[in-house]
Amino acid sequence: MEPLYIRVDPADNVAIIVNPEGVAAGAEFPNGFVSSEAVPQSHKIALAPIGVGDPVVRYGQVIGHATRDLAAGSWVREDCLDLPIPPALADLLLATSPPPAASPLPGYTFDGYRNADGTAATKNILGITTTVQCVAPTVDYAVRKIKAEILPRYPNVDDVVAVTHSYGCGVAIDAPGAAVPIRTIRNLALHPNFGADTLVVSLGCEKLQPVRLTLPGLQMADQVIRLQDNLGFAATVARLCEAAEKRLRVLNERRRVPCPASDLVVGVQCGGSDAFSGVTCNPAVGFAADLLVRAGATVMFSEVTEVRDAVHLLTPRCATPDVARALIREMAWYDDYLALGRADRSANPTPGNKRGGLSNVVEKALGSVAKSGTSALRQVTTHGEVPTERGLIFAATPASDFICGTQQLAAHMNMHVFTTGEGTPYGLAMVPVIKISSKTTLAEKWPDLIDLDAGRIATGHATIESVGWELFHLIRDVASGRKKTWADHWGLHNYLSPFNPGPVT
Ligand code: CA
Repeated sequence: MEPLYIRVDPADNVAIIVNPEGVAAGAEFPNGFVSSEAVPQSHKIALAPIGVGDPVVRYGQVIGHATRDLAAGSWVREDCLDLPIPPALADLLLATSPPPAASPLPGYTFDGYRNADGTAATKNILGITTTVQCVAPTVDYAVRKIKAEILPRYPNVDDVVAVTHSYGCGVAIDAPGAAVPIRTIRNLALHPNFGADTLVVSLGCEKLQPVRLTLPGLQMADQVIRLQDNLGFAATVARLCEAAEKRLRVLNERRRVPCPASDLVVGVQCGGSDAFSGVTCNPAVGFAADLLVRAGATVMFSEVTEVRDAVHLLTPRCATPDVARALIREMAWYDDYLALGRADRSANPTPGNKRGGLSNVVEKALGSVAKSGTSALRQVTTHGEVPTERGLIFAATPASDFICGTQQLAAHMNMHVFTTGEGTPYGLAMVPVIKISSKTTLAEKWPDLIDLDAGRIATGHATIESVGWELFHLIRDVASGRKKTWADHWGLHNYLSPFNPGPVT
């Protein structure tokens, strides 16, 4: 392979090296440009001399200022860049240039399960919600027994999933921050893939009493099982199996029916990103996001700390000034949250991100927001809230993969798309997770974990458009149960981790 780099924007004075083995000093690119030192794959090369204090530009945006003189063709490492101050939240443009709606894409459907509340499911799951961690091992024991002995008699039900978590007691339940995990657990319980209904298992003495979840229909005695009411472990398990079988009978009557693409709620997320993420997988996801929005679907992107440094690109794109103000509110809330923990945005990125060529959170954020595509932003929801609008949504969550995934489940995504550069075997039990690699070397290393390789875009074997369309069709196939993701094939399902910004006692 001849030496190859990718420059994203004509204004950029750095580019990303494509070659898996990197380039050596003196390597000549097809356009005659020559490297002045060795630069590893996915790391930045200076395309022109950059003086100390000069802006380093990628994606047409300043990602930092050079901390020393950089010759043309040199390796622009993390320590060559300072961290610019974040965009001031008071100076942002509010809904000044929302893109006009693109032409609709009618006629696309998937085969899902229709719920009584109008939502659609991509899996048919018996959900068992817990109010407190104390009951989790008991519920896990019962779930293993239900799956082994009862579920085989109900072939139309895909799975039995317990919503277990570390919340529920030893917490200041009335503190303002407690609203987030409580709302999150409530909305997990009402997830479309549970048929918008659930069993609830409570201990009895915990802070998070079932009534605090304000679940509709919870007065029904057979829907809430309190361990402290029962005779012992075996009696509790028997009671759980009995309640589960009753619910399995109902779920087993459900069949997949054609649903319009507008019933898809696709949560997009990145994790273990590298410098390719922003030029291959994330723009391809953005292209698919635009197709989904044109087909009437909902696409939610999240990860506040990875949007914060690109927020000036998003507030003008909001459909209304109120949506822009809601986005600023979520950014401000997280700024305060980090300040309270005496952390700042330099706490992101990770060592792996840096190994993958991402120098700082500004560069990471500019690549991350590419997942949102180009549509107008219709709504901003706070942590664990369910959107009421369709189209492109910003659902506030932390960037942590498993917390973001949990929070997007609470926001009722029924499909998850996850991009990665360094690689992660991440998956969720409640919805299918499609994993997309930023580079082909990862897809080749992990052929039994990566569902789609966007690295072909970097080598010219595919385009953002072609991978975007592939993803659009893959989402419909997976949502219909016609194709299985690798995470579901192996049963790789991460623990649920509701975000808890409140005090623990
Ligand atoms: Ca993430």
